[in-house]
Amino acid sequence: MIALGIESTSHTFAASIVSDKKKVHSDVRDMYKSDKEGWGIVPAECATHHRNVADSVIRKAISDSNVKKIDLISYSAAPGLPPSLHVGLNKAKEYAKELDVPLVGVNHCVAHLTSGHMFTPVKDPIYIFVSGANTQLISLEGKRFRIIGETLDVGIGNALDKFGRNIGIGFPAGPKIEEYASDGVWVELPYVVKGMDLSFSGIVTAASNKFKQGGYRIPDLCYSIQETFFSMLTEVTERAMAHCNKKEAVIIGGVAANQRLIEMLTIMCRERNAKMHAVPLKYSGDNAVMIAYQGLLQYNSGYRDKKPDIRPYERTDEVEVTWL
Ligand code: AMP
Ligand code: MG
Repeated sequence: MIALGIESTSHTFAASIVSDKKKVHSDVRDMYKSDKEGWGIVPAECATHHRNVADSVIRKAISDSNVKKIDLISYSAAPGLPPSLHVGLNKAKEYAKELDVPLVGVNHCVAHLTSGHMFTPVKDPIYIFVSGANTQLISLEGKRFRIIGETLDVGIGNALDKFGRNIGIGFPAGPKIEEYASDGVWVELPYVVKGMDLSFSGIVTAASNKFKQGGYRIPDLCYSIQETFFSMLTEVTERAMAHCNKKEAVIIGGVAANQRLIEMLTIMCRERNAKMHAVPLKYSGDNAVMIAYQGLLQYNSGYRDKKPDIRPYERTDEVEVTWL
């Protein structure tokens, strides 16, 4: 069975053709970037970008793929920016009519978790979801993905980016902080774990204040913020694995590019006789491959869209998991 996936929740408009045997036949992406210096996403501008590129992205995904027949269309229905979600929904409806195939609306965050199953051998892991905006430890319990621990303020990637902006090393700061850190030594910073939850913004303030005061080297601050953030995350992941009795972990999201983070998690897993996996970076950011595959899983487990629509605020733990 073959699906056309359409992604539009945030900055990226993407389309992809994928089979239920996990074969990626095509993967086309086009990312919105505000032309206003220092701005993030302007929702109306972002939706206009998506509207402008939608047909060419979808047509290219179809023509790149060389498949004879598409059996369903899967689109990201949740969560996300409503104007952007609407562009994806409307295009999905239009092409479903043209191709005369069913529609499946999926949750984008759930699809990120599914990419762990698509690209690594994990069966029942703790999912470590660490992107710009998200920091969550998740476990499948019964028919729901349960959030075992999460950030109480900003996502870990955004926290690194904020620190990077404060010390003037540009955006995205994550990769640059990693580079600087290789030449750093330890400087004391607060360590903020509250039960199973994490808080990053106070640490960003403390590290930024040290920079402003002067007398601290950038590599030392970068090394210390990394060691602090990643130790916190590793501590909570270990506890999540113990509580939920899991023998494997999988990391998903842009921050998974960081080799020091992977190293810490791998050591922790090894010491517990557990396995650590990472979704390949190419598929750990926003893409339509995971949306297409998520649609196939749901369709094949009997799910049908009653009325195609968007669900901008749907949380990961609201989705009934019928395919695992
Ligand atoms: P995403 O939201 O999944 O697209 O991931 C983007 C985030 O990942 C940004 O906040 C980046 O700063 C962060 N990031 C990318 N590469 C690295 C890295 N090597 N170390 C830490 N964070 C990173
Ligand atoms: Mg995403």
